[in-house]
Amino acid sequence: MTLHRTLSEPQVNLEQRTPAACPACRSTTSIELLGGRRVPRYNLERHLSREEALHAPQGALDFRFCTACLFAFNAAFVPESMDYAVDYEASRASSGYFKQYLDQVCEELSAICAVEGKRVVEVGCGDGQFLLSLRRKHPFEGYGFDPSAALERIANPFADVRFIRGYYGPEALPHAPDVVILRHILEHQGDPHRFLQHVLASAQGSASVYVEVPAWEWVVDRLQLQAFSYEHCSYYSRWALQRALEQHGFFLERVAYGFADEYLQYYASRRARSARLHDGTPGDPEALMAKTEAFARMITDLIEGVRDAVCRRYRRAVLWGAAGKGTTFLNIVGLDDTTLEYVVDSNPRRHDTFIPCTGQRVVAPEFLARLRPSQVLLTNPLYRQEIGAQLQALGLHPELIAVDDVIHQVARTLSA
Ligand SMILES: [Zn+2]
Repeated sequence: MTLHRTLSEPQVNLEQRTPAACPACRSTTSIELLGGRRVPRYNLERHLSREEALHAPQGALDFRFCTACLFAFNAAFVPESMDYAVDYEASRASSGYFKQYLDQVCEELSAICAVEGKRVVEVGCGDGQFLLSLRRKHPFEGYGFDPSAALERIANPFADVRFIRGYYGPEALPHAPDVVILRHILEHQGDPHRFLQHVLASAQGSASVYVEVPAWEWVVDRLQLQAFSYEHCSYYSRWALQRALEQHGFFLERVAYGFADEYLQYYASRRARSARLHDGTPGDPEALMAKTEAFARMITDLIEGVRDAVCRRYRRAVLWGAAGKGTTFLNIVGLDDTTLEYVVDSNPRRHDTFIPCTGQRVVAPEFLARLRPSQVLLTNPLYRQEIGAQLQALGLHPELIAVDDVIHQVARTLSA
């Protein structure tokens, strides 16, 4: 069954200019990263026809980096413009590599937050797989909230775990939560204070919180043009996240970078600041600042260079990965279906849908047996082995090229 829009299109002016003050610390000392572009408002909305995809709702970009708190944000983001009750497909359950990662986070979270017997809330639970994996390890009372949760597709064997389709509201719980999980939700919040206040103020005095977000450190290190989407309006460095959580009385327990450094994993609690030392992950705010400035100077030329490289060298390629990174890459670089015709994805819910605004059809891996592409562009190099094995099983041996490598090649020629 498909979820349809449950609310009418939000009546807001998407062109309205918000003041460029940092939403995290209110400072106005920001540098410009990328602006003057429009991209899909929802990366993962399912469009069932090319026509519908080409006319998908858009949002404006005006990405900046706050030099006061080391936080990147889209100053043109209008929080009221987002309605996650669209037909939204965020599941990555079809990847073994990703499942392995989630399993590892479950282990760590169980140990650090001691979830057994507690009341655990996950805000933005998506397909519910994380909360259920955690519950399989230990008994607890669990609540998952998500406005796009497709309740009929969540196979939930636990009587003490409830999924609620909607935004988080503490009134749905009998008592305040002991553990709050915020995985990949904070980057969608244009007003992080209001959101954190709403969620964290409802937690127990002894509560702990686990936050997972894409790390700005990683975005800069990997020159991620794919990061500039409308949905992801906020990117935290570890310092920005620390500041945001401390303002709500939650102090660092442990911080690490996971999923090959892409994600910032942050544990905090209301206990005294010196309760536990963090694990000594290397970090240098000045180095991050310098790298961000270099990235900012290069972005526009990088986009042009990558478009040129794809048009010249990879015109007959297919792109593997229809999730957020693939959609943003196609839109930021400006590649429509006359340059790259197909996008491949393992998730069956994405098959025969179309990429918002650029219009590529999403096909199953099996479709490639007919197409026999000589090159496959990978939106995420971490899945190289998994994808290579799938292609081999289909009797195909195309050249696999990571989009990230194309970006880095162009960057090298620009700085030469
Ligand atoms: Zn700031």
